[in-house]
Amino acid sequence: MRDRRTTGADPARYVRASNVTTRAGAVLLTAVLVATTLCVADGRAPARSTPAGRGGPATARSAVLFIGDGMGPAYVTVTRVARGGSRGSLRMDRLPYTALSKTYSADSPVTDSAAAATAMACGQKTVNGVLGEDASAVYGKQDGARLESIALWAKKRGMRVGLVTTTTVTHATPAAFYATEKDRENEAGIARQAVASGIDLLLGGGRKYFPDDLRTMARKDGWTIVETGQDLAAVASLDRHVLGLFAEGHLPYQEKIEVARKQPAADAAGSAPAGERGTPTLPEMTRWAVERLKGSGQPFFLMVEGGRIDHAGHANWARTLVDETAAFDEAIGIAVDRLDPKTTLVLVTADHETGGLALNGYPDEKDGIWSTYHDPQGDKEDGPYSVLSFMSGPGTTRQGGQPPHGPEDPRPSGIPLASAAHTGVDVALYAWGAGAERVHGTLDNTEVYRILREHLENASGAR
Ligand SMILES: [Zn+2]
Repeated sequence: MRDRRTTGADPARYVRASNVTTRAGAVLLTAVLVATTLCVADGRAPARSTPAGRGGPATARSAVLFIGDGMGPAYVTVTRVARGGSRGSLRMDRLPYTALSKTYSADSPVTDSAAAATAMACGQKTVNGVLGEDASAVYGKQDGARLESIALWAKKRGMRVGLVTTTTVTHATPAAFYATEKDRENEAGIARQAVASGIDLLLGGGRKYFPDDLRTMARKDGWTIVETGQDLAAVASLDRHVLGLFAEGHLPYQEKIEVARKQPAADAAGSAPAGERGTPTLPEMTRWAVERLKGSGQPFFLMVEGGRIDHAGHANWARTLVDETAAFDEAIGIAVDRLDPKTTLVLVTADHETGGLALNGYPDEKDGIWSTYHDPQGDKEDGPYSVLSFMSGPGTTRQGGQPPHGPEDPRPSGIPLASAAHTGVDVALYAWGAGAERVHGTLDNTEVYRILREHLENASGAR
């Protein structure tokens, strides 16, 4: 059944008058207000104003989930050092709460993006390759029981829902938030589920999966389809569903968009694909989504994926990996700068690590991480070796020699593979805003769902 757009939610559902009337209550309220003021600056959520179960002032709750695809802990470190030196810090480094997140899937210690996204979106482990179905599914062969994602749950509750990615909008990570599918590769089928999903905005690539008949159906169902950043900027509200299809397949890498934009317009038709100049970047799409969702005046759930971090990792492209992770980090900053930590929870995590990126010892700080290192006291047989390397992937074998190896800058890999393998290490989970204090210790990736759900459930004022 297709979504019939939910009209404006009743604000009374989200705002309940405080019933603090006693003198003691007034003192408590004052203390809470002071604590709130003190806490806002660093994004820590204020303490709850009343004990659980006694009711109290409920306000509209929103949440943003950032997923860096393939962004293992070393990706964060390498991007930080590449951009600001060892003492630098990324926006995600400055989020106040962190945990480790276990990423294994129902059938492997090493997950793929479909199983990991399903765990975070639906709160249950499934087998690799499967989207939005439980672990009774057999990849590509048999459907499992369908699960309801946090996005569709939120939509049913009258919230606004948005999904933003740099991959095709039908790729595994965004798809787990609106589709159920035993084979993640069936992007044409997933595209039909996207149109039927009823979510408010879906931005990324994947034009090729939306043929004319599907576009016609989408427009009839209330979708506006945009194909350039300019067209997107012109959409002022979410009165209609917004489907952004900014490339045939995945969006170009951030660096390619930046280079295309720097070229004189006269050259654009010749040397740079025209589409790359008009493609919005992840920070731009995130800004648009956050502003429109906020502007709607309704509580919302937004998922933002840095989807091509993983692709750079699979190729062992160190510079591209840093560019993509930095763009993802910029998008996090854009959201945090515009959102209210008293009502909004922001989570930042990865679905898994890709390629086994390592930062190998012991380069001099001034030489940085792009150098090769040679230990003057080391064994005669040792080095020089690349400070950055991967455990698996195509490596530098095709280029040979010393870095740099061109704009993508591939680095050596230990296990030669055409495309690097994912690894099973834990990833970081960062949190900011209301409810962020729940994020600590070592969690399972399914906890992402539960933390979001518990936070958003209070949007209705229900206890
Ligand atoms: Zn991957």
